[in-house]
Amino acid sequence: MASSEELHKRRATAVARGVSSVLSSYVDTAAGARLTDVDGREWIDFASGIAVTSVGNAAPRVVEAVRAQAERFTHTCFMVAPYESYVSVCEQLIDLTPGTFEKRAALFNSGAEAVENAVKIARHATGRQAVVVFDHAYHGRTNLTMALTAKVMPYKHGFGPFAPEIYRAPMSYPLRDGLSGPEAAARAVDVIEKQVGSGNVAAVLIEPIQGEGGFVVPAPGFLPALAQWARTAGAVFIADEIQTGFCRTGDWFASAHEGIEPDLVTTAKGMGGGLPIAGVVGRAELMDAVHAGGLGGTYGGNPVACAAALAAIETMRELDLAAAARGIEGILVPGLQGIESVHEVRGRGAMIAVELADAARAAAVAARCHEAGLLVLTCGTYGNVLRFLPPLVISDDDLRRGLDIVRNSLLLP
Ligand code: PMP
Repeated sequence: MASSEELHKRRATAVARGVSSVLSSYVDTAAGARLTDVDGREWIDFASGIAVTSVGNAAPRVVEAVRAQAERFTHTCFMVAPYESYVSVCEQLIDLTPGTFEKRAALFNSGAEAVENAVKIARHATGRQAVVVFDHAYHGRTNLTMALTAKVMPYKHGFGPFAPEIYRAPMSYPLRDGLSGPEAAARAVDVIEKQVGSGNVAAVLIEPIQGEGGFVVPAPGFLPALAQWARTAGAVFIADEIQTGFCRTGDWFASAHEGIEPDLVTTAKGMGGGLPIAGVVGRAELMDAVHAGGLGGTYGGNPVACAAALAAIETMRELDLAAAARGIEGILVPGLQGIESVHEVRGRGAMIAVELADAARAAAVAARCHEAGLLVLTCGTYGNVLRFLPPLVISDDDLRRGLDIVRNSLLLP
């Protein structure tokens, strides 16, 4: 087998530079919360492929479901020749997302594609165009979702022009703005009403806990006040739960922590157990406002990905991975508190982060973790946040070993 060094050399003349990697090691195998690289080195995984392998890497039930489905049939295109597993995944999305109102769902390939479709649905259903997003937001890298995303470098730089009718409102960021949830919501609503006009707003789109933007947890009351404002204004409230969904934050969806019932929810990442699948689920009258044939795509809800999603969801239910996420929070948060260089420990469930002085410090701590065999990621508008997204099935032992590595790396000057 080629070594990481050899693969890195081959990569330089084959893979576009725009696609970069956190690790310079190349993966050979992975299981649960462990990765093994081609040089035989083992890593504890606090990244989960960016919040994807919540049920663990190569989770046995997912592997078996994928194998069995691939043997039956690999692809027909749901728009051409439909099959049961697509319907079943939609039923699961309807069942698991907050709100008991009548819902419908549709499946796609990636988070960005789900967000694009949620915006299409909201615009079609309301007959309005404006979409309100927030500071620090991340919604993807396609043209529309780049416009929805806040941070220019690396996501948007040189890639414009961007889609029109996107408006950015101030986010609740308690560490930086010191505002209560209702105060921060009033500030956002003021911007929306004065700069967009409530009658023009098709959708208010928000991550209940921001992911790439820095694991920003809005002050309590911010999300409910925005959802209430959207209802009054006749705008669609869309929760982007692509990173927060499917047990990651200690409940099936992060909206549930504040009792919010979004009109539409976008999902991806953890739902597929490692295979690419995404969904939009929400109020039947909004979803069904779109004409037949208005939504879809060749691969959306591919049968192998649907089989993986059903197996992942079953695993989450049976192992109660929402409770596991709460248990991870119970170990990580106290373990990270009281370290001098940490400005704030925040997050929920198995979506925990520390905000540090600056990007250089976060990069240095991450590099130390990597040297010590722990895979961690950074994030944040300012690049100064170190984030932890372990698989929800991680063993106590690996979690504590990983935490020790993080603590030791943070304690060094
Ligand atoms: N929305 C959120 C909240 C995300 O975290 C991400 C991915 N990090 C996306 C959208 C885009 O998902 P994808 O990369 O699958 O297109």
